[in-house]
Amino acid sequence: MKIVKYPHPALRAKCRPLTSLDEGVRTTAAQMLELMYKAEGLGLAAPQVALDYQMIVINFVGDPNEKDAELVAINPVIVEGQGAVKDREGCLSFPDLYQDIRRFKTVKAQYYGLDGQLHEMTCSDLAARIWQHEIDHLNGTLFIDKMGPLARMSSKKALEELVAQFEDGLKKGTIPAGTAAKL
Ligand SMILES: [Zn+2]
Repeated sequence: MKIVKYPHPALRAKCRPLTSLDEGVRTTAAQMLELMYKAEGLGLAAPQVALDYQMIVINFVGDPNEKDAELVAINPVIVEGQGAVKDREGCLSFPDLYQDIRRFKTVKAQYYGLDGQLHEMTCSDLAARIWQHEIDHLNGTLFIDKMGPLARMSSKKALEELVAQFEDGLKKGTIPAGTAAKL
C-alpha cells in the first residue's frame, strides 16, 4: 500500500459505501493509519491508497501516541455545516502544495466506526477542515477544486511538476502502465 499522488486517476473515483466490516477492512484501516503517520498527515482517505470504498482515517493532532485523537470513519457524511473560514491546507497526494481554502467553520459529521455503530461528531476549525477535506476525497473532489482563482494560479507550477512526475512514473514503470492520468 502506498499513497498515490495527483494526477493518479484513483483520486477522482467516486467511492462506494462499505456494507460489511470484515477483517480485511480492519487491516486496511490499520495500514492506512500507519501510512498516514509515516507521512506526518492528519487524515488519509481510501482513494489516496487507490481503494474505492468509503473509509477515512484521521488523527486530529497528528500524533500516533494520542490514540484519543485517532479515528477510523466508514461511510462518513457531513450532515450540517455552519459558518465559513479560510485557512492554509495541504494534501498528502499533493506534496509541498499549500493554499488557503474556504471551508465550513463548524460541521456535524456522521460515520460508522470499526465497532459497527453510528457515531456523530460536531467540531470546528482544524478538525472540521479535516472532515471536509477527507470526505471530499470519497467523492473524487480534491482541494484544488476548492481553490479560489488566485490560489489556483499560484499552484499552477506545482501541479505541472506533479503531472510531469506522474508521467515519468508511468514511463519508468513505478506507476503501473494503463494508469491513465485524467487531467
Ligand atoms: Zn487530501
